Amino acid sequence: MTKITHTEHIAIYPGSFDPITLGHQDIIERAAKMFDKLIVAVLVNRAKSPLFSADERVKMIQMVTGHIDNVEVRSFDGLSVDFAESMGAKVIVRGLRAVTDFEYELQMAQTNRAMKHDIDTIFLTTDLRYAYLSSSIVKEVASYGGQIDLFLPPEIVPLLRNRIKEREHKESQK
Ligand code: ADP
Repeated sequence: MTKITHTEHIAIYPGSFDPITLGHQDIIERAAKMFDKLIVAVLVNRAKSPLFSADERVKMIQMVTGHIDNVEVRSFDGLSVDFAESMGAKVIVRGLRAVTDFEYELQMAQTNRAMKHDIDTIFLTTDLRYAYLSSSIVKEVASYGGQIDLFLPPEIVPLLRNRIKEREHKESQK
């Protein structure tokens, strides 16, 4: 049997976070309690045309996680497993909402494990209040002028409203 010695327990929580929602914030708060350090990892390139730049997304997450002292926020490009390894993290945290998330998440977790056997993915089930919440739904609601403060941390609400207004203004000038 290999001897297990305790080293700092680091996890990453990767995603697009375009923008961070109350669902993401809930997962961050819960995962932070489980590890010495949680690195929220903002994926630079995956969303084809994100509404917010990676730097903006990092700043927004910092804004709403400032009260948790073992959370760090970074952006990265490439594979989550490579980023995890470069941070010394052995765990990838993901949130699971409905069954619809499951197949994709399972596929990704298996692929990641095939690539790096010593990095595990753990899933936290979403709080029921946020089970149908996604950044894209919130953006859609916002684009029709709907009420978005039910879904976003209060600091993020005006930022999303402004960005949508800017986008609409740009579109109308084309
Ligand atoms: P991705 O583009 O990788 O799906 P997201 O920013 O949409 O990135 O989400 C990042 C992670 O957070 C994913 O594991 C996703 O399942 C999870 N997540 C997204 N929304 C919620 C929510 N409302 N409740 C719990 N987890 C969520």
